[in-house]
Amino acid sequence: MFSAYHVEQERWTRQQLQCDCGSRWTEIGPQQLMQLDGKPSDVYRATCDACGGETMVDFDVSSFFGRPSDLQALDDQDTARG
Ligand SMILES: [Zn+2]
Repeated sequence: MFSAYHVEQERWTRQQLQCDCGSRWTEIGPQQLMQLDGKPSDVYRATCDACGGETMVDFDVSSFFGRPSDLQALDDQDTARG
């Protein structure tokens, strides 16, 4: 899991990731907010067009979860704050 402190940093990190074959991942579907190890986490699914591989990329977003931001729609999930 990656630690994210800002949604833009999260996006930048995702853009740096590569498949084992050296190609870039193509994200599929919307991000999903999940609880992983008790932390609010953004989970992305991606495929590799070159080799057909698939991956899940997850970010610990607890550092900024609940702030007014792109995640505002998820702000009513108070269970994340413990
Ligand atoms: Zn690949």
